Amino acid sequence: MIQLESKATDRFRRDVIVRLAAVQRQLSHRAYGFHSAERRGRLSTENRRAGSVSRGRRSQAGSFGGEAPVQCRRRPTYNRAVPRRPPIVLAYHGIVAVNPAHDPVRLFVAPDSFRAQVRVLKKRGYRLVKMAEFAAETAGGGGTPPDGLAALTFDDGTDDHANSLPGLLEELDVPGTVYCCPGLLGAPYPWADPALGARFMTRPEFDRTAAHPLIEIGSHTINHTVLEQANAATALQEMRDCRLALEAMTAAPVLSFCYPRCLYSEPCPAAAIEAGYTSAVTCGPRGSWAPGEMQRQCIHTPDGRLVFELKLRGRYDRLRSVGPAPAVRALTRPWRHRAER
Ligand SMILES: [Zn+2]
Repeated sequence: MIQLESKATDRFRRDVIVRLAAVQRQLSHRAYGFHSAERRGRLSTENRRAGSVSRGRRSQAGSFGGEAPVQCRRRPTYNRAVPRRPPIVLAYHGIVAVNPAHDPVRLFVAPDSFRAQVRVLKKRGYRLVKMAEFAAETAGGGGTPPDGLAALTFDDGTDDHANSLPGLLEELDVPGTVYCCPGLLGAPYPWADPALGARFMTRPEFDRTAAHPLIEIGSHTINHTVLEQANAATALQEMRDCRLALEAMTAAPVLSFCYPRCLYSEPCPAAAIEAGYTSAVTCGPRGSWAPGEMQRQCIHTPDGRLVFELKLRGRYDRLRSVGPAPAVRALTRPWRHRAER
């Protein structure tokens, strides 16, 4: 009995995976506006064949004057136009290839995945800017960022943000915003397994990172204080103190803020602006394009092409909460997170 149920579950899981793969293929065709060379060749051959058969049948039918002409079956067409480029802010943490067993919160993204994701943005014609510029263009656009504008952001200021991220950004020729906690410099990174050895950047690493032309330093509260329950006075003090501390360290204005764990109370958005920031970002289903609670899509370790595409289009959080999606996610979790076992 247990065996039968297990077989039925396996069959259902396989069916879900096949259907997800079909959706992913369709999204890829629409997103990139082209078929693979193999498929292009096959389609054109099939189209020629279908056309010649159809023409032959038509002329036969015409010459015998009886049957109605056979209709040429219409083949599916794909959107070949340049895809829409909704404005987007992506939220990353560490960009390091790690053993998944050492990354229980799935925060780290491998450099190769990061490269592929940035190349998708560039190929699609996105213009990548630092967060301060993103906020300026949003304000200048009447509160809405223009299509095709994107920003890459990196939370926490981990050691890789100082030691390998600058090289990656140079290689890809894109800027990024790193949100730092000045009270945690050099401390172990608490959301990874200690065996990984991850830590917050040290002061010399911070200084080097802040001086890099492709990097903007943003604020993440002094000690990564979650502001979910903060009243207006506390929120203002946390945000202002961190800005002043970072400005003293960088001798430059710090205009961008990120809510730790993306959580914030109702007075926070107004407090962020009062504290001197032009943007404060959150992530997931929260936020809007309002400067005090700007939305971001958080990229996690196991995000494949389909999930990344849904996040780019702002549909991921909506899809994962409707209809049978939560059940499907629970059922396919072992397959999707296979690498973590
Ligand atoms: Zn954080």
